[in-house]
Amino acid sequence: MPTTKAYAAFDNKSPLRPFEAPRRDPRAGDVTIDVLYCGICHSDLHQAKNDWRNSKYPMVPGHEIVGRVVAVGNKVTKVKPGQLAGVGCMVDSCRECAACTRGLEQYCEKRNTQTYNDVERDGITPTYGGYSKRIVVEERFVLTIAEQTKLEAVAPLLCAGITTYSPLRHWKVGKGTRVGVVGLGGLGHMAVKIAAAMGAEVTLFSSSDRKRDDAKRLGAHEYVLSSDSAQMRKQSKRLDFIIDTVSAEHDIAALLLTLRLDGTMVLVGAPERPLALPAFPLLMARRSIAGSGIGGIPETQEMLDFCAEHKLTADVEVVSIAQVNEAYQRLAKADVRYRFVIDNATLG
Ligand code: NAP
Ligand code: ZN
Ligand code: ZN
Repeated sequence: MPTTKAYAAFDNKSPLRPFEAPRRDPRAGDVTIDVLYCGICHSDLHQAKNDWRNSKYPMVPGHEIVGRVVAVGNKVTKVKPGQLAGVGCMVDSCRECAACTRGLEQYCEKRNTQTYNDVERDGITPTYGGYSKRIVVEERFVLTIAEQTKLEAVAPLLCAGITTYSPLRHWKVGKGTRVGVVGLGGLGHMAVKIAAAMGAEVTLFSSSDRKRDDAKRLGAHEYVLSSDSAQMRKQSKRLDFIIDTVSAEHDIAALLLTLRLDGTMVLVGAPERPLALPAFPLLMARRSIAGSGIGGIPETQEMLDFCAEHKLTADVEVVSIAQVNEAYQRLAKADVRYRFVIDNATLG
C-alpha cells in the first residue's frame, strides 16, 4: 500500500510527530488529492487528547482540507486532475439510507465515515486526515473549490464554515433575525461572518474582553462579556437564535435567558463533559435547545458557493507542521485569531 508523509498523535499526551500514513490504492470512484492547506479544528485537539473517549492511535488529525487533484479514477466526473478540491469531516457514508439520500450524510443511519479517527466501510482500515501530503477520497465526498489566491483562508470553511452555516440555514436566520454567537474561535468567527452576511443582527458572547474590536470588525453589532451579569441582564429576552460554539464547560442557563419567547439555542461546541441544563430557563419562555453536526455534502458545496459570492473566508494564522504542537497549546487557551492552518508544503 502507498504511504504519505504525515504527523500523528500516538497517545493522548505526547506531542504529535512524523508518521508514514498508509493511503489506499485509488479505486475507480476515487480522487487523489495533494493537500495544500489543512485547518486545525478544536475537534482535532479534543480527539488527539481523547476528550471524547473514542480515540484510535496513531491518529492523523485534520478535516479542513484544501488541495489539488492529482489523479482521478475512470468513474470520476466531478473533478479533473489539476483542479482544486476540498475535503471536510467525512469521507464516506452508507450512501443509501433516508438521511444519505437527502444529502444529510452526516446523519447517516448506519454511520458516516469520519476523515480521521475512524475506519472505512470495511470496518477495519483506519482513516487518516489532512495533516498529510496526500489523501484519497471517494468523489461524492469531494468538494469543488473555485480557483483563488488565498487558499489557506478557504480551508477552515470545510468544517468551521459548514458547521455554522448549516444551523443558521436550518433555523432560517436572515434579515432582521437577532443572532447570538457564543465563543469567538474558529467556529465562532465564521458564525459571525456568515450570520452577518445573511442579514442578521449579531451579538457576540465571549468569556473575555480581549476580542471586542475583532468581533466588531468581523461583523458583530454587539459584544457581551458573558461573565458580567449586568451586561447579560441587558440582553434578557432579546435574541431569536443562539449558536453556541464553546469547546469547554460553561453556563448555558444564563445564555438561555437572552432568548425571547420560542427562541432556540443550538449547541455546536462539543465539550468533554456534560453541560448543566436547568429546566426553568426553558419552560419560562417556551425556549428550545438543539444540536447540529457539521453539514451534508450538498450543503457544504452550497456554503462554499455562498462564501465565494459574499467574499467570506476565515481569518487565519498559517503555521508549519513543526509548529502544530505549539498551535495546540494556544488553541487550548483560546489564543487563536481565528484559525490555525497548516501549510502542508512544510511536511517535506
Ligand atoms: P476554538 O477555536 O478553540 O473556539 C472555541 C471558543 O470557545 C474559544 O475561542 C473561546 O471563545 C470559547 N471558550 C473556550 N473555552 C471556554 C471556557 N472555558 N468558557 C467559555 N468559553 C470558552 O474551537 P473551534 O474549533 O471553534 O471548535 C469549538 C467547538 O466546536 C469544539 O468543541 C469542537 O469540537 C466543536 N465542533 C463541533 C462540530 C459539530 O459538528 N457540531 C464541528 C466542529 C467543531 P472566547 O475567547 O470568545 O470566549
Ligand atoms: Zn472540525
Ligand atoms: Zn446512510
